[in-house]
Amino acid sequence: MLDQTPTNSKIVAAYRERTPESAQLAVEAHRLLPSGITHDSRYCEPYGIYVEHAKGSRKWDVDGNEYVDYYGGHGALLLGHNHPSVLAATQEALGHGTHFGSNHRNEVRWAELVTKLIPSADRVRFTSSGTEATLMALRLARAYTGKSKLVRFLTHFHGWHDHMTAGHTSHFDGTPTTGVIPGITENTILLPPGDVTALREAFARHNDIGAAIIEPTGSGFGTVPHTRTFLEALREETRKAGAILIFDEVVTGFRVSPGGAQQEYNVIPDLTTLAKILAGGLPGGAVAGRSDILDELDFKAAETKQREKIAHPGTYNGNPVSAAAGVAALGIIGTTDACAQANRYGEQLRARLNEELARAGAPWAVYGTFSGFHTFLNPKRRPLDPTRFDPLAIDYRELSGNPKPLAQKIRLALLVNGVDINGRLGGVISAVHTADDLQRTVDGFRSALSMVKAEGEMPPIAA
Ligand code: PMP
Repeated sequence: MLDQTPTNSKIVAAYRERTPESAQLAVEAHRLLPSGITHDSRYCEPYGIYVEHAKGSRKWDVDGNEYVDYYGGHGALLLGHNHPSVLAATQEALGHGTHFGSNHRNEVRWAELVTKLIPSADRVRFTSSGTEATLMALRLARAYTGKSKLVRFLTHFHGWHDHMTAGHTSHFDGTPTTGVIPGITENTILLPPGDVTALREAFARHNDIGAAIIEPTGSGFGTVPHTRTFLEALREETRKAGAILIFDEVVTGFRVSPGGAQQEYNVIPDLTTLAKILAGGLPGGAVAGRSDILDELDFKAAETKQREKIAHPGTYNGNPVSAAAGVAALGIIGTTDACAQANRYGEQLRARLNEELARAGAPWAVYGTFSGFHTFLNPKRRPLDPTRFDPLAIDYRELSGNPKPLAQKIRLALLVNGVDINGRLGGVISAVHTADDLQRTVDGFRSALSMVKAEGEMPPIAA
């Protein structure tokens, strides 16, 4: 049931006032969908906005409110909503048919673009989502090495299949999350993020590590960042151990740079998982990497090597409409400075928002790298200058431990002021966010901060 109890929060009241149509839809949705939603990160109290349409960097809800969008299709929209070339390619593909049950031209073009852009990609296998991509990468690694253990890092996200759930937002002790059997997590080694010593010790202790998977700019696109040195240490340890290094570039691929984080850091994994931008805003994913590893999927190679091939069906693998959108998007990203533009805006946005925090006397900080931003709500109430905040000096539990009720209130206050960011108070930027978007965001942020302050949610911290 949707909570419709009266509120004494002016922020919640203002939100409800602006969004009656969304409220109505949320009532219906709660009858039909668990929590009224279709993706956990869209959970919002009292209810989320219902969006009618979107264009470029903006979106409009069913009540006609306009938002500067930092959700960016969960990161899929580096080129913004309905980029004209991507839209045209998608429409053309739709006219040709949505599913051939056969090979088609664009899947070849698409794979070619992936191998051109992503340094580690010799060959590609398309999937329907990022979750499927990490599942296949793990299976490839285990099949190739014959070793079962998977190294993962606490708070890192790799989709929702059984092997990737413990230690993301809960079960940091490695016990299985609900619905997952212990046999799965028994084969996972969960390590603290960014800790080179713990990493080296784990590789010294275990001789059955088949794979390590990591979000290469840190968990949650750098909510918990690590250094390049950490990536290099991981590369070195996996190589020494004969384990497969998987970079999960579902968010960072085609975003951080056209070649992803691996190009930016010049640390090259054995396998890379991709999704989001890969398919130009439509559903799609891929695992790409070394030919000899992808051979585990190859009929002839399996025969020659007398190995059992990994089976891989999937109705929507390489779907022609997703492929067309992906070819159009990657074509643009590979030949323009779209990534750099989004990164530049990111730098400006973080700096401007921190100026606002400092001006408001808020003991919080906005941080991030490339085209992302995150907000640190300082749960331990440390003295903090937002303009000098260094997330590398803060423990990962604290960085990912924003108090939820406060985050929720700030998020609603931003929505009331025409800015949509995610529930963890972060977001992604597109190459089509403009100076006007930046100004609107800064103004909206300032106004949201004063609403939050007026509700007593920003008590000063004694130095
Ligand atoms: N890996 C990472 C780093 C992700 O951010 C996500 C999705 N947010 C996934 C994997 C899963 O991708 P999908 O939602 O397409 O299954």
